[in-house]
Amino acid sequence: STFEGLGLNPLLTSHLRDKMNILKPTAVQRASLSAILHQSQSDRRDLFIQSQTGSGKTLSFLLPIIHDLLPLSSLSYIDRSIGTLAIIVAPTRELAQQISEVLNTLLQMRLRESDPDASDGDLGPRLTRWLVSGLLVGGGTRTHDKARLRKGLPILVATPGRLLDHLQNTESFKVAKCRWLVLDEADRLMELGFRETLDGIIKALDGRRNLALAAAKNGDTFGGEVIGGWNWGPRRQT
Ligand code: AMP
Repeated sequence: STFEGLGLNPLLTSHLRDKMNILKPTAVQRASLSAILHQSQSDRRDLFIQSQTGSGKTLSFLLPIIHDLLPLSSLSYIDRSIGTLAIIVAPTRELAQQISEVLNTLLQMRLRESDPDASDGDLGPRLTRWLVSGLLVGGGTRTHDKARLRKGLPILVATPGRLLDHLQNTESFKVAKCRWLVLDEADRLMELGFRETLDGIIKALDGRRNLALAAAKNGDTFGGEVIGGWNWGPRRQT
């Protein structure tokens, strides 16, 4: 099957092909896209993805998020006052940094289809004009984080401690419209002792997420966990 066949936004599909040389979905991407893109708004469920590093796990959660947020960009791009719409939690700074790099490549996509008749080849603004991503990890200063949060960061990649810190202490961190929460390497997050921190994060976002997604390499050590009152038991796996 193809990204088109799975219903992925054609602009995003072209960007994957032309700029990232990604032509066909991997197994885990097929599973997550078919599970997520065909859910109706009222029937959204948490999703648990189990797959190894190198299987395309990162795009399996980034693509559905961007696909979901893309239509909003035509309504109000540049309006970053909407606050944070998606949060991806990763166990380490290095992993957060890697996710952020993939995300930034995706966000370079153009917001208009190429018109073969147009001589100027205008493809519209890049998605980054509206969907800006930010990294929120330990190490940087909190004051600097706050300034960035105040300007608005629609997509955030974060490590758990720093994220919870800001959720609890920063008035300028707007999460009322947040509709995605991803826990990448959820098994590792648990092994590193972040259970209570994750509980706190989920509590701070309570009732505000439409869909949560957890990814893990090892479903055996993670399946069936209850974090923040949600049961993350494996509903779908590959
Ligand atoms: P990940 O499992 O997310 O760490 O991805 C591993 C590598 O596979 C990365 O270098 C990706 O760029 C690449 N990749 C992800 N999805 C695809 C795909 N559908 N086709 C080809 N390469 C991919």
